Amino acid sequence: MVFSVYLRQCFGLVVVLLTTMTFAADFKTADAEFQNLTSDQDKLNWVHKYEPEVARWPVLDQAYFYHRKGLTLEVNDNIDGAKAQFKKSIQLFKSLDKKDPGLVQSLIDLAYMKYLQTNDTNVYCPDREEAVAVARQIKDPVKLADALIQLAFCYQTGFDELTRGLEVLEEAASVVKQNNLAQDSLAMIYNATGNLYRANQIHQQAYDYYQKAYHLWLQDEDTQDMFNMLHNMTSEAMALGHWQLAEDHVKDLYQMADDYPDFSDFRFFAEFNAGRLAYTQQNFKEAINAYQAALALKETTPEQYFVKIAQAQLAVAYFRLGHYDQAYQIAEQYLDGTDVNNDSDVIPEALVIDLFSQQKYAQSLNKFWGILDNSQENNRQFVKNAVALQAMSFGESLDALQNQASQQQLAIKQLELEQQQKQAQINQLTAVVVGLIALVAVIIAWFLYRSKKHHQLRARRDYLTHIANRRHIIKEARRLLAQCQQKQEDFSIIIIDIDDFKAINDEYGHAVGDVVIKQVVNNMRAGLSDNQLLGRIGGEEFLLLLPGVNKGRAFAVADQIRQQVANKPIAIDDSELTITVSLGVAVNQPPPAHFEELLKRADDAMYRAKTAGKNQVQPASSAAL
Ligand code: GH3
Ligand code: MG
Ligand code: MG
Repeated sequence: MVFSVYLRQCFGLVVVLLTTMTFAADFKTADAEFQNLTSDQDKLNWVHKYEPEVARWPVLDQAYFYHRKGLTLEVNDNIDGAKAQFKKSIQLFKSLDKKDPGLVQSLIDLAYMKYLQTNDTNVYCPDREEAVAVARQIKDPVKLADALIQLAFCYQTGFDELTRGLEVLEEAASVVKQNNLAQDSLAMIYNATGNLYRANQIHQQAYDYYQKAYHLWLQDEDTQDMFNMLHNMTSEAMALGHWQLAEDHVKDLYQMADDYPDFSDFRFFAEFNAGRLAYTQQNFKEAINAYQAALALKETTPEQYFVKIAQAQLAVAYFRLGHYDQAYQIAEQYLDGTDVNNDSDVIPEALVIDLFSQQKYAQSLNKFWGILDNSQENNRQFVKNAVALQAMSFGESLDALQNQASQQQLAIKQLELEQQQKQAQINQLTAVVVGLIALVAVIIAWFLYRSKKHHQLRARRDYLTHIANRRHIIKEARRLLAQCQQKQEDFSIIIIDIDDFKAINDEYGHAVGDVVIKQVVNNMRAGLSDNQLLGRIGGEEFLLLLPGVNKGRAFAVADQIRQQVANKPIAIDDSELTITVSLGVAVNQPPPAHFEELLKRADDAMYRAKTAGKNQVQPASSAAL
């Protein structure tokens, strides 16, 4: 078993060795070589060297080879040839089951060739769309970002185009950021975004994006791209009328020209921008100086488009300064090197001057009006886009507001939740506190009740004898009298006064007098029923209420009391004191007008008992009855 595995491994090794020997070189080796080549001719040589091998390579490697061949023909200015190679490469990539990132690159490169040849979005953009679609399908973020950036250039002027282009670049930026791709990619996206805005006369945004790109390339120390961005920022600052800013950027351009002499055309562009800035500010003298300085360096730059602009603008500057001969001369020079039949390539200002110099005034003026029309169209587009952009940013700010609002709602919800939690805590606390308060209240209430009861009792009770005091017994007497009168029941009262009490006080002292009073009360109470209320109405004077008791029975009760008191001597120190009482009885027959009348009848009766010899009961006089 182990042996057979070993054998198979050996066999595998032999196969690999044979394969390597059979193919003099595989694509991997070849491509490593290709990537190190710098000269266009060396690349052509590379193609010739490896092309005979290609048929024996796997299809994927073949596809890659033809892509490299396309690149080679491109740098050797054979655009048709390059196109054919990219197409071949695409065909091979598509014949594979598995989609490869190389397909995306080939599509991008084919589109670029078509762009160079036609400058027609209808021709080159479908390939870029396909590149994006494939990159999405294979989920390759690097290729997707590349394809999206390329696709963004398919959208130029017009607000819908701008919006679509910005969407594409936004997606590219998010792909780059999400996948931590090179900062350079993001800088390129910012650059492309700036271009898109600039093409649509939206200069502030264009400036902002060029600046973003500038800062990223500054971090990467990418000198050429930094310089390009400064150049763009200068023109956008001018378009915005930010003269100071533009001036600062021109200074930066000069500084970079000084700092990086290896970049041969930096000085040309510094002078060019200085001329443009002076010209825009209608400082024509300075513009002439700067443009002349730039044109003196025209051989240092491959970008002849800018050389042409410098010439045309120099002519206009001379013209506007009243130096017509120089203006005509420069305009002529400009037109000499320009294809006048290709209208879009000609700077119309130079043409105006040239026609003017030839005294073709009507044509010159017509051309001039053409410039005005153009400038008006630009202004219209600027206003339209500015308004549309404002609406868009308004929409964005609406979104932001909505976002903010939903965040606030979230915050409110959180607060509500916290509030609910707090409320629950508060409820618990409240329950505890309320419980405590209730408990305390109950305790307090109980104490209050007790003390009230106590007060009531004290209010009703005589402090010495603990029977009803005067106020209470009179109050009860009134109530019972009314009640009995209403029920037509008998209501009898008895007034009781201790006989010769003054003498007791005098003989035994006030304290003994108190004891005697208490004892007399106890003696009187014996045998009284619950509804028969006894009260103290004076020092040694008492009132007994007998509801439902007639005169005869009341008399009997009075006499029983008299006997109970008289028959129960009170022990004082070593001796015993026999106490007597005099009693007067009255009844509600005839009904008294009020209680005081009834009380007076009883009181009168009691006095009669006193005068009759004390220790006796007297009924109210028959006259009173
Ligand atoms: P009478 O038989 O005519 O009723 O003679 P009396 O001595 O009882 O006469 P009077 O009613 O004038 O005197 C009552 C006395 O009772 C006067 C007062 O000093 C005394 N007295 C009243 N209240 C109290 C009390 O609460 N305690 C004591 N020790 N003496 C009281
Ligand atoms: Mg008295
Ligand atoms: Mg008395």
